Amino acid sequence: MKDQLELLWELQKIDLGLKHIKEERERYPREIKKLDERMSIEKEKLQIERGKVDLLEKERREKERQLTSSQEKIKKAEGRMFEVKTNKEYQALLTEIETIKGASSQEEEEILQVLEEIDELNKDLSKREKEVAILLEKIEAEKKMTQERMSQDEIFWKEQMERREVVSKQVESKLYKLYDTLKEKRQGVGVVNVKQETCQGCFVHIPPQMFIEVQKNNEIIRCPNCNRILYFKGEGKAK
Ligand SMILES: [Zn+2]
Repeated sequence: MKDQLELLWELQKIDLGLKHIKEERERYPREIKKLDERMSIEKEKLQIERGKVDLLEKERREKERQLTSSQEKIKKAEGRMFEVKTNKEYQALLTEIETIKGASSQEEEEILQVLEEIDELNKDLSKREKEVAILLEKIEAEKKMTQERMSQDEIFWKEQMERREVVSKQVESKLYKLYDTLKEKRQGVGVVNVKQETCQGCFVHIPPQMFIEVQKNNEIIRCPNCNRILYFKGEGKAK
């Protein structure tokens, strides 16, 4: 029976490893999806900031067009100076030129402001772009690591499945069935270690006499509380 218990214990370890991989298999794609989402959020944010700069550039070009047309108007008006005949006409033309000049210097002022704004935004943007590039690189590395872990897990899975086949064949079928049923009902754990008179599956104390028997690993003894098969691995710190 000692051999049988030891085989069961090994089987349990294999099964826990497989269970862990199963959980990881579900977790990894979610993790990768989250990383992808983070990447697109960062890219989108940059896109919005670039959009702001584009908008200001458009505004600047529009204002420059206005300025050019104002300057042309001034030139035309100045050309007409030689054609005026009366003082009244002359005064009127002068006022017109002054008005256009006033508008055009206002336009110049506005262009300068927009240019300053563009400059400021571009500075922020290039800083952000560098930060995002670093962040994206980190996310890519994380993704790659996750994918590597996934393929390592698959290799480990195959090995463990093969080992499981060998071990489970050596366990008596009745005992295997009991283990399998318990495992099914008790969160994947059918055999548990006992430490300091305590079942490590449900953490309830077992009677001292029972503990003495369990330590021999000579017979199938089950936890009076959780029904799991008890195994004694030693009192050491190892699990
Ligand atoms: Zn128990």
